Amino acid sequence: MKNVIVTGGSRGIGKCLVENLAKEGYNIILNYNKSEKQAKKIQNDLKENGIIIEIFKADVSKKEEVKKLVNFALEKWESIDILINNAGIAKLQMFQDVTEEDWDEIINTNLKSAFYMSQAVMPSMIHKKSGCIINISSIWGIVGASCETVYSISKAGMDALTKSLAKELGPSNIRVNSIAPGVIETDMNSNIDEKIKQEIKNETPLGKIGKTIDIYRCAKWLIDDEFTTGQVISVNGGYVIS
Ligand code: NAP
Repeated sequence: MKNVIVTGGSRGIGKCLVENLAKEGYNIILNYNKSEKQAKKIQNDLKENGIIIEIFKADVSKKEEVKKLVNFALEKWESIDILINNAGIAKLQMFQDVTEEDWDEIINTNLKSAFYMSQAVMPSMIHKKSGCIINISSIWGIVGASCETVYSISKAGMDALTKSLAKELGPSNIRVNSIAPGVIETDMNSNIDEKIKQEIKNETPLGKIGKTIDIYRCAKWLIDDEFTTGQVISVNGGYVIS
């Protein structure tokens, strides 16, 4: 079965990806940074069902920690078949208030991490002439978000990484795609109050907020597919149609 690294697998979308791919039989390394308890709980809950996954603490915004994570994977496995760059943070603030530290934190966590991770797993994928990289970007990278400028920039950058790498790595049979979620029920959106949620639902053709499983279904399809690369697939209930 194929070997998968999911960054930011301790909560939200990453947790859902880990749990469902593990149940499908994929070998998983769940990367986490701060949420050790949650990561261990996911590991233990799966173990109770006879499913073994590995967990590995690494701040993926740091090159040295990414190196350790990928080395850990290559010590366990002969190859890394699938990389899901999912780790991310968001910060709501007026652009005028953005400090250089804010900029660096968001860009490094959301975008530079995908650069480090992709570069680190590429040799293994090129060697095998097979691979799948999925970048979890965002609708805000496509249309821009007021008060989340740096976040939007980081996600637009991810989509550009997807398109460029798809061209560069296609000849090595490595597919690179983005999933650009709309609003999905996770901790990241815990600050959105019910009134705003209702407004979002009203503006969404499918009339609902997304669930983490919606992102898993798209990721699974991209993993199974053999002729899709360089695409930004937006899973958003029709909230953004571009
Ligand atoms: P979440 O519930 O806040 O979870 C974020 C995950 O990222 C956590 O597992 C966290 O791990 C991990 N993470 C953050 N910084 C990290 C770092 N430096 N190194 C390693 N892991 C790190 O968020 P989510 O909603 O699931 O978001 C997952 C991805 O989807 C993000 O890239 C986000 O931008 C994107 N997205 C989400 C939505 C949405 O509506 N929820 C919409 C569009 C795009 P620890 O807690 O262990 O640090």
